[in-house]
Amino acid sequence: MIKVKKRKILLLPGDGIGPEVIAEVKKIIQWFNKNKSLDFEIDEDLVGGAAYDKYKTPITDEVFYKALESEAVILGAVGGPKWDKLEFSKKPERALLKLRKELKLFANLRPAICFKQLVDASSLKPEIVSGLDIMIVRELTGGIYFGEPRGIKPIDNGERKGINTHSYTTKEIERVARVAFDLAKKRDNKVTSCEKSNVMEAGQLWKEEVQILHDKEYKDVELTHMLADNCAMQLLRNPKQFDVIVTDNLFGDILSDEAAMLTGSLGLLPSASLGAKDKDGNMRSMYEPVHGSAPDITGKGIANPIATILSFSMALKYSLNLDKESKALDSAVQKVLDDGLRTKDIISKGKKEVSTSEMGDAIIACLQK
Ligand code: NAD
Repeated sequence: MIKVKKRKILLLPGDGIGPEVIAEVKKIIQWFNKNKSLDFEIDEDLVGGAAYDKYKTPITDEVFYKALESEAVILGAVGGPKWDKLEFSKKPERALLKLRKELKLFANLRPAICFKQLVDASSLKPEIVSGLDIMIVRELTGGIYFGEPRGIKPIDNGERKGINTHSYTTKEIERVARVAFDLAKKRDNKVTSCEKSNVMEAGQLWKEEVQILHDKEYKDVELTHMLADNCAMQLLRNPKQFDVIVTDNLFGDILSDEAAMLTGSLGLLPSASLGAKDKDGNMRSMYEPVHGSAPDITGKGIANPIATILSFSMALKYSLNLDKESKALDSAVQKVLDDGLRTKDIISKGKKEVSTSEMGDAIIACLQK
């Protein structure tokens, strides 16, 4: 068993704008070390296409072991057209799947918060999204993306058949539901559990197990069950009815992207992936922005670093037990937006356009105050 080293943070910038946005997080970590006497030990390494170019694999064993012994991993983004034609096992995205699976990161937390300063960036009416603050908890290591049997096989008359298996066990459902209930207790105390229990047995089990756990341990939390397709619709109709949504890997993938878009900009959305606590109370975790490697803007110095900076803020809160510092960082981001600074993706009339690194510097200047 590899031991987690306290305060060790592994930065994996990855591809495209990944290195640009991670550079801003690195500046912030260094600021915390210098000004708040924190002793984060930073390590940095290659992942995704960048690792493939050097080592012919999207993640080396060495990097994987570094991730295992770090208290938190902060990842930029992986992928891009350069690596699109690689065989499946060599694709940059395989590194993410391996990290999620092997670090047993079973709960993916994606907040969708509509910043009041950016309410007009949403495609929905301001009154529908203004003040929106929901948390989607997606099961990340089970369900149809990992279930066996899977594959493509020849069948009769020259046709082929593609197979994936959607399955869940009691334990898999229970542990992710527990994360959702615990989070709800610190928020508005409401959980909506989504599945397709009307047409899928695995969905029926999901619904039953979430209810059993609720009745046993979380009676004080308000629990609602909703079919995933209805949830997709309700997110557009009245998103503020939700507090915490918990759902499986496939529906979570889709619903969290939909919720993300309610807020207007991909460049603002953080995420956390959490594993189980070991007997010493250590938890493996990985934090990354929701956006990808954005090849269309790579190298231009215009990427929005806020999603990655807020991902680091989630690391401060959920992995490093530094709630106060996390709040200070969130407030610094708010203040910079209040001051009218914007990267190109969120610029609007009357606001001042800044580069990736100017945005990082402005956030640090606010922390300083
Ligand atoms: P994307 O998120 O990279 O970009 C979508 C659009 O949003 C682009 O126009 C991009 O310029 C813009 N955008 C994204 N992040 C931004 C930021 N921080 N600041 C300003 N604008 C931003 O999605 P895509 O174009 O579908 O995918 C590009 C590559 O990224 C693909 O190879 C894909 O596989 C990969 N990808 C990786 C991850 C990940 O690493 N977790 C997630 C999604 C996509």
